[in-house]
Amino acid sequence: MIIGVLALQGAFIEHIKMLRRIGVEAVEVRLPYQLDRLDGLIIPGGESTTIGKLATEYGLIEPLRRFARAKPTWGTCAGMIFLAKDIGIDEQPILGAMDITVDRNAFGRQIDSFETDLEISGLTGAPYHAVFIRAPVVTAADSAVDVLARLDDGRIVAVRQGRLLATAFHPELTDDLRLHSVFCDIVKRTGLSPGRE
Ligand code: GLN
Repeated sequence: MIIGVLALQGAFIEHIKMLRRIGVEAVEVRLPYQLDRLDGLIIPGGESTTIGKLATEYGLIEPLRRFARAKPTWGTCAGMIFLAKDIGIDEQPILGAMDITVDRNAFGRQIDSFETDLEISGLTGAPYHAVFIRAPVVTAADSAVDVLARLDDGRIVAVRQGRLLATAFHPELTDDLRLHSVFCDIVKRTGLSPGRE
């Protein structure tokens, strides 16, 4: 299995390291043709306006939309914003692949970053220690979307829609490999390219 990590800006190296730790071949993606050989893609956290701008410059918007329609894709933090259908800002390029409405910078300036333990549906064992950095939240989700985790106040911070996964926090900044394993399972179940395992 080969998983790509969109490497335009943000925390892509950390995702690559996590994937390699669970024994998966992971590659950086910057150009449209590099999507062709992938079984799945991670869009990392960073700054969604910058990721959108660079993706436009590199001719990646349409190829990424096609990819997310066909293959497993996971957006973390800025990646969640980039995957969403609605962010309430028309000028910012997004993929619109997931039927969610996302509020960027939902925690405002006072609470820039925080860490908390989450119960995530589908994960066994201890609660998941999640790192939030200028994080978004999901403010509305279509009925086709499964909510995987909420904060104590009820706000949605992890969702799945079929092959698509989105988390408001940064799973690549902890030592917990469980969410990367969940994503790899989605990739395996969706069907790998011929000859892959
Ligand atoms: N607030 C950032 C944005 O709007 C996301 C922050 C992050 O990815 N850590 O893109």
